[in-house]
Amino acid sequence: MKWTAKYILIDSVFQENISFEIKAGRFVMSRDCSDAIDLGDVAILPGCVNAHSHAFQRVIRGRTEHRTPRNQSPAEGLEDNFWSWRTAMYSAAQGLTADEISKVAEFTFLEMAQSGITSVGEFHYLHNQPDGVPYINENELADRMIEAAKKIGIRITLLNVAYHFGGIGKTPNQAQKRFVSKDVRSYLEKTNTLRTNWKGHDVVIGYAPHSVRAIDEHWLGAISDAAQYYDAPLHIHASEQRGEVKDSVAKRGLSPIEWIYENGGLSERTTIVHANHATRKEIERMAETQANICVCPTTERNLGDGFLPIVDFLKSKIPVCLGSDSHSQIDLFSDARLLEYNDRLLVEKRNVLASELDRATTAEILLPMLSKNGSRALRNGAPAIADDASADFFTVDLKHRTLLGSDSESLGANILLSMTPDTIKDVFVGGKKIIQNGKHKYEDDIYSNYESVMERVRSFS
Ligand SMILES: [Zn+2]
Repeated sequence: MKWTAKYILIDSVFQENISFEIKAGRFVMSRDCSDAIDLGDVAILPGCVNAHSHAFQRVIRGRTEHRTPRNQSPAEGLEDNFWSWRTAMYSAAQGLTADEISKVAEFTFLEMAQSGITSVGEFHYLHNQPDGVPYINENELADRMIEAAKKIGIRITLLNVAYHFGGIGKTPNQAQKRFVSKDVRSYLEKTNTLRTNWKGHDVVIGYAPHSVRAIDEHWLGAISDAAQYYDAPLHIHASEQRGEVKDSVAKRGLSPIEWIYENGGLSERTTIVHANHATRKEIERMAETQANICVCPTTERNLGDGFLPIVDFLKSKIPVCLGSDSHSQIDLFSDARLLEYNDRLLVEKRNVLASELDRATTAEILLPMLSKNGSRALRNGAPAIADDASADFFTVDLKHRTLLGSDSESLGANILLSMTPDTIKDVFVGGKKIIQNGKHKYEDDIYSNYESVMERVRSFS
């Protein structure tokens, strides 16, 4: 069966008079639309790749937007900032049961699917029971994350987190016990077990040393070797906020990304998450090693982290992808638009990225970040709308108020800068429809499960 639509996004250009078939979950493209079924007034885009997620953090959305003693961190002079937010996040991390974590993950992944996301990189650090004792199955919660993504139908790269220290040179505190692995060998074994158990199930298993705070040279070296051996992705938070950079320089004499580089952690398999405060030298290191950068602007905006010097990264040809991270919002188009808008506000000009990079439009710069670059970071080979690519895609309603009146020239800009997720109609992964007219087949149960979890979350201190 052959399909066509008003516009299909190919290589960041909306094209007309294109048709496709799906064979064994993959695209077969054609320029012959004569016997194709016309999907009508929709545009088809490759699925979005959300390269950085902590699914459980969805439960604290809206719960840290006010001043309370709980939100004030004595260590930081009673300020509301990343560190005080982290206290609230730790409380959620401590309080959720395994069943509740599954329910929250299903809800979060469903919200992703409904906003056009077909692949997620789950940066998974809830490993143990709340008291720090491992579950009988040490991968219990990682398995549940993968099962939740499978239930929704999106692809998952499970980035299994290595967390050992509570800060550079510090033992973990009580609230961090749920995250820690006792030594690097058992962490690597646990990750190998995940890889073996999920082999053949279309799941990518990757490594995620949590941050320069949570590991040392020995851990990073061993994990980098394993990632190289298995040709697996390696993701790490770095340079998210200034406190972390200051601490790294004070204790190690190197800023976070330099430290990762000096200890062999940067390669084309590596994704640095955030890099808001990266130095010129760190940007050069990332360019030299062809590492990826995952930026999470809606979260960074929410946490007051600062924002990425995006022009410097793009001029250095570093592939930039996007993540919804803490899920203060799940809409990667909002993340993408902030990259341009932050710089407009900073330099008081328009079309900053296009003029800095000498390109015609903002859209052609931002669109690859939503799909192709994310796939590079997650190493899952999807998605693009091209011959033999996996058929991961979604349709947007051209009659929706946010897109009405768009033509092939303005459509990219309208999708990137103005579209809301409810414009998305149908979502497909590997040619299988997982969202129809904005709805998922398990949606009612998943929503009501989430409401019951939130009733209990309200009792957390
Ligand atoms: Zn994160």
